[in-house]
Amino acid sequence: MKEGKRSAPVFNDARSKKVVVVAHCVLNQNARIDTCATAPAVFPKILEALVERQIGILQYPCPELGFLGMGRQGQDCASWDGSYQHESGEVYDQMTVPEGREYLSGLAENLVYQIKEYKKYGFKVLGVLGILASPTCGVGLKYYKGLDEADGAFIEELKKAFDEAGLDLPIRGLNDLEPDENVALIRELDS
Ligand code: SF4
Repeated sequence: MKEGKRSAPVFNDARSKKVVVVAHCVLNQNARIDTCATAPAVFPKILEALVERQIGILQYPCPELGFLGMGRQGQDCASWDGSYQHESGEVYDQMTVPEGREYLSGLAENLVYQIKEYKKYGFKVLGVLGILASPTCGVGLKYYKGLDEADGAFIEELKKAFDEAGLDLPIRGLNDLEPDENVALIRELDS
């Protein structure tokens, strides 16, 4: 080894070595399905809480946009009771066709790889923040013919990938309508 060179990276620089995984639309509401954006661009309180606590943001790509595109339909955020039926059918069903499952498991596996890399080098990965009631990123609550107390399609695949990789991280859902609860959740994960 030449003098002055290290054999492995140590990351003892300005970084906090703290990261949280967040659903894409937390920082980009433009990606949401038609009718379902609840802010112009970002959720400011979440962003402020993360910046204040020096938590790096691992924003995963929007699975619905990546697989179904911007013109996807199937859900109307004005009616949560299941009364709205679009001819395309439920978003959850569109995301869980075999090709959709394959796409989602690929995204999940890549996230697992990144998380394992962070952990390998001693970074703290606080957890994953999905979106309550999303048919895709919902955690314990998704939209499927009304509100359904189950995970969305991507979270199902992510949990499977975590289990296979032996990763045990908190996976929690943010609530569009409860900014203070979201901030409390970030505090809890960072405590
Ligand atoms: S909840 Fe998930 S699928 Fe829906 S817009 Fe956000 S990132 Fe995309």
